[in-house]
Amino acid sequence: MATKYVFVTGGVASSLGKGIAASGLGTLLRARGLTVALMKLDPYINVDPGTMSPFQHGEVFVTDDGAETDLDLGHYERFTGLPTTRMNNITTGQIYESVIRKERRGHYLGATVQVIPHITDEIKSRIRTLARETKCDVLIVEIGGTVGDIESLPFLEAIRQMKHDVEPNSCLYLHLTLLPYLSASGELKTKPTQHSVKELREIGIQPDGIICRTEVPTGQDERRKIALFCNVEERAVFESSNVSVIYEVPMMLHRQALDNWVVTKLGLVTHDAEMDDWKRMLDRIKSARREVTVGLVGKYVELADSYKSIYEALNHGAAHHSVRIKIRRIDSEHLEPANIAQALSGVDGILIPGGFGSRGIEGKILAANFARERKLPYFGICLGMQVALIAFAREVCGLPDANSTEFNETTPDPVIDLMASQKAVLDLGGTMRLGSYPCRLVPGTKTAAVYGKPLIRERHRHRYEVNNKYRETVEKNGLRVAGLFEETDLVEMIELADHPWFIGCQFHPEFQSRPLDPHPLFREFIGALIAHQDSQLPTRETVGAS
Ligand code: GLN
Repeated sequence: MATKYVFVTGGVASSLGKGIAASGLGTLLRARGLTVALMKLDPYINVDPGTMSPFQHGEVFVTDDGAETDLDLGHYERFTGLPTTRMNNITTGQIYESVIRKERRGHYLGATVQVIPHITDEIKSRIRTLARETKCDVLIVEIGGTVGDIESLPFLEAIRQMKHDVEPNSCLYLHLTLLPYLSASGELKTKPTQHSVKELREIGIQPDGIICRTEVPTGQDERRKIALFCNVEERAVFESSNVSVIYEVPMMLHRQALDNWVVTKLGLVTHDAEMDDWKRMLDRIKSARREVTVGLVGKYVELADSYKSIYEALNHGAAHHSVRIKIRRIDSEHLEPANIAQALSGVDGILIPGGFGSRGIEGKILAANFARERKLPYFGICLGMQVALIAFAREVCGLPDANSTEFNETTPDPVIDLMASQKAVLDLGGTMRLGSYPCRLVPGTKTAAVYGKPLIRERHRHRYEVNNKYRETVEKNGLRVAGLFEETDLVEMIELADHPWFIGCQFHPEFQSRPLDPHPLFREFIGALIAHQDSQLPTRETVGAS
């Protein structure tokens, strides 16, 4: 069967959650037995977000095949359970790079190379290639940015043309907009939505359906008005209100029969959405009463999106144990010996995520030490593992100036050093050790018990590694190497033997965690937080004694 396409555009404002709405639809279509793929078209000129600051872009999501992509791909994977690849995210930078390369090779046979048709053809060919390669029944294509932006025009033009390139009734256009609420008059305003749809129609796209983001529920009057002014069926006006858990979005859309409407419009015959597992997962999240607290010590803690996959993976682990996870976000730049006990008081464990550059590094080293000394559960991811090793070398192995050459090139004890394969690398984009690699776990370690299997595959994004010259020293002092990439003898995992739960990994397990299948490290880390909290509860005797 030829692939059907659902194009998701956004209007009125950015950050409305197009990625989550698209993913929610993906979840539902998959639950109806369809094969689904999701794709993001990003209008910026960067080739990928790998070189962008977290202040600009939020998390960079890494795929198995080593692409540095938009964080919406993380939502796609978590909601559908399906891995993505570099084909699922394209940017203006990639499109132009490829068209210009073709032009230099003479591919266009003397033609003047133009936005229409050459750029739009390139965009369409990427969309169709993904459909072909994944053999999906439905490809959901999310167009980044907001309708009206200059830079998204070629993408909108390409999706407009798609309708004429494929069989009739094979394309559906869904537009996500915002209905602002005016508290003074107590009204939801539909005018911005009308204008945004008008703008879409000016470029030739008549949306088939509209999803309205709203803080308060819409009434039939508003929906009727939107249908009338935006020229869509009344049953094709959906609302997406605020939810406390993002995994509620599929259920919210299902209650409004969005999936039913989509399959009917596309002429697909399916069974109803089977959402039992999903509902059970939501019930576990919502019925959780007990709360554990993790201290997340990072550099970008004030930004909601910079550690997105980590926050989600923590939620998945918490849902598994039917507890709620409270994340105390601690800026490592402000941590000092004098305030660390105060800043971390009451946390049940510490997580240090990935990161780059020396800002805030000493605070992270302090936090890793604090966790080791106080026997607090510690989970170090990528940079979080590297700082744990630096802290251990300094405090336990008697190497007070131990460091990573990323932060001090002339350190006498470079316990973390640039990988040999990185030494000749000059370009910054796409040149780290990226993507999925195997890791052999050391039998008998706590880590091997967490995974319950000897060989794992995880995704990476780093340039530095544990310096093997120091392995013997740190192992002699009680730090165990628990996992290795055998090909280059690269330390992938470390743990402490005499500590309840102290694990570091060079890779990013957060990218593979799913709400229906929490990552074992996150699952067991949450278990360790619970155990720590239990150990802090006053016992009957001490209560009686006081
Ligand atoms: N900056 C460190 C490196 O490149 C850690 C990277 C990370 O945490 N993703 O190795």
